[in-house]
Amino acid sequence: MLLFTPGPTPVPESVRLAMATPTLHHRTPEFEEIFAQTRTMLFRLFATDEVVMLASTGTGAMEAAVRNLCHHTLLSINSGKFGERFGKIAKASGLQSVELKNEWDTPVSVESVIEAVNANSDIDAIAIQISESAGGLRHPVEEIAAAVKQINPKIMIIADGITAVGVERIDVRHIDCLIAGSQKALMLPPGLAILGLSTGAIEKMGEGVGYYLNLASEVKKQRQNTTAYTAVTTLIIGLRAVLEEIEAYENGAGLSKLFCDTARRAKATRFALEAIGLHSYPATPARSMTTIDDVDASAIRTLLKTEFGVNVAGGQDHLKGKIFRINQMGLIEPYEMVWVVNAVELALAKLGRRAFDGTASRVFTQEYFKTVLKEAQS
Ligand SMILES: *Cc1c(COP(=O)(O)O)cnc(C)c1O
Repeated sequence: MLLFTPGPTPVPESVRLAMATPTLHHRTPEFEEIFAQTRTMLFRLFATDEVVMLASTGTGAMEAAVRNLCHHTLLSINSGKFGERFGKIAKASGLQSVELKNEWDTPVSVESVIEAVNANSDIDAIAIQISESAGGLRHPVEEIAAAVKQINPKIMIIADGITAVGVERIDVRHIDCLIAGSQKALMLPPGLAILGLSTGAIEKMGEGVGYYLNLASEVKKQRQNTTAYTAVTTLIIGLRAVLEEIEAYENGAGLSKLFCDTARRAKATRFALEAIGLHSYPATPARSMTTIDDVDASAIRTLLKTEFGVNVAGGQDHLKGKIFRINQMGLIEPYEMVWVVNAVELALAKLGRRAFDGTASRVFTQEYFKTVLKEAQS
């Protein structure tokens, strides 16, 4: 069975093997060395002033970010389940909150964020997804961050990059906190979250807020290559292996080549599925996943699983049974995706929607290998 859900994503073999090594004690020079190497590679991936690893899933990092960086009112952007979660975290943390809510296929507009910020001078932090996984959409986070900093550079920008870090280059110049989670684009089992922080964020948090999720105590410790509490040694060893794998991607072409191939694959997948009459759900598709809304979404998903060996994700809440989501995160071979789009075409044939003629795999191949085909022609 091919695992094509946008989290969890498949863990590469080299990473699984790295995590099978005997347990290390976390307060040892051996582990500190591994921690230091991991940190160095994280700085290259995040391009932020500071990075912190947390033993929690992504939501723990979202809560840590809100608690430590918002002291008054949080403006949260809700175009899906994960954006909605930021508002719930603010409430549970005793903070004031304002929400900009849209349908799950609709990204927030820069103008509406500016309007909300101008209307409420208590807003001291904004929380937003880069890629909102509920409907597979991309918010214009970098533009929002730049515009907000022009109004008030003290407003903290918290960007949930759980399905974006490792997928595409993110411009972090105006972002104060960038969050990643292990089981999505980082190809690890769940349980580790990473936060990239700006100098402004570190200044604002001061002594930090809370106990376990106090980011200030973690920053202090992690600068010495250790953690405030027991480090999740196995996952950090796995993370080091993932980052090494990413940096070695395509004979050392590394991150930029991975980003380029991911974008190319996501686009080719969308074109292939549109060519067989399917509709891409989000107005601004994220590169992390391909999301299709369809009356037969449920039936297509079931057929993919039972007949064609492909596991894709469905929708949640009001989109349950109405969409399916195909993962684009991690190290995915184009031949795997050719099979996925071909399987969707087979499912449509089986449902009597469309005679099978191989359009999906042809369009995917023509788009993904565009340059190869052009060279072959000339
Ligand atoms: C999965 C996900 C989360 C939540 O992470 P957990 O690891 O389930 O706590 C948050 N934001 C986005 C965008 C996600 O895709």
